[in-house]
This record gives sequence, C-alpha cells and structure tokens, in this order.
Amino acid sequence: MRYAGQCHCGKLKASFETQKTPHDLGVRACQCAFCRRHGAVNVTDPEGAAIIDAFTDDVERYRFSLRTGDFLFCRRCGVYIAAVMGEGEAIRASLNVAGLRMEAFLSAPEAPATYGAETTEARIARRLKQWTPTRFLDPALNASYYGPH
Ligand SMILES: [Zn+2]
Repeated sequence: MRYAGQCHCGKLKASFETQKTPHDLGVRACQCAFCRRHGAVNVTDPEGAAIIDAFTDDVERYRFSLRTGDFLFCRRCGVYIAAVMGEGEAIRASLNVAGLRMEAFLSAPEAPATYGAETTEARIARRLKQWTPTRFLDPALNASYYGPH
C-alpha cells in the first residue's frame, strides 16, 4: 500500500509505501525534547520506500544533539515532516505521520522510544537498519547530504 500525507499548508508532501499494515508496523513516539514539542509520531520500514515531494526553497533543515541527521520543516507553515540522513541512493528517512497527517497511521499502535543514551555510531547504525529508503523528487534535495556532521 502507498500512503500519502502533507504538511499543514501543503507545500511539503510525502508518500510511504509498505507491504505491512499500519497496525503491524506500528508507530514510535520518540521521547526526546524536540519530538515531544512537536507531538511527533514516526513510522519507518526498511523494506518500504518513501518519496518526499517538495522544493528546496520550501524546506528548512534543523540539526541538533548528535547531529546525525536533518529534521525537515516547512518554511511556510512550520510543520516537521521527517528526519533524514544519508545521500543519493542511500538516503533514509523517518516520517512524522502526525505532522504529515497520514490518517491510516494515526490510530496505529504507538510505542514510546528513548534513544538519548545512544552513541553517535549506534544511532547511525540503528537508523541504517530501521529507517525507510527515501528519495526526493527535487533533484537538488536528492543530491543533498543529510548528516552526520
Ligand atoms: Zn507547510
């Protein structure tokens, strides 16, 4: 199935393809101070695929803490839609289904997740294993590098 969502104003769109049901996949509520401020609830599937449809000029990036990835926001409405890392064919993302209002996932089983004790290496390894292979439709965004720095 392919699921679609967008930020509040609609400038940033994303779709998520997975063979699993939202119920089987579940969603994670990262307990970090950033994610809780946004009410973020994220989904990933390493065997799935994500596409982010946005123009470079509409996307703001924020990098903090271990700086291992970029958190993407809409410059117009401020909604956080995804955390992204890597580059080119190796871009991976964790989509915020709450920010994107991916309806099918809003009632999926939610589990809290705490990653605060991870080392930089462990964080990168976990994301490479868990996050969703992703591409951007905008060639400039697709050619960008998203953490770690
Ligand atoms: Zn927006």
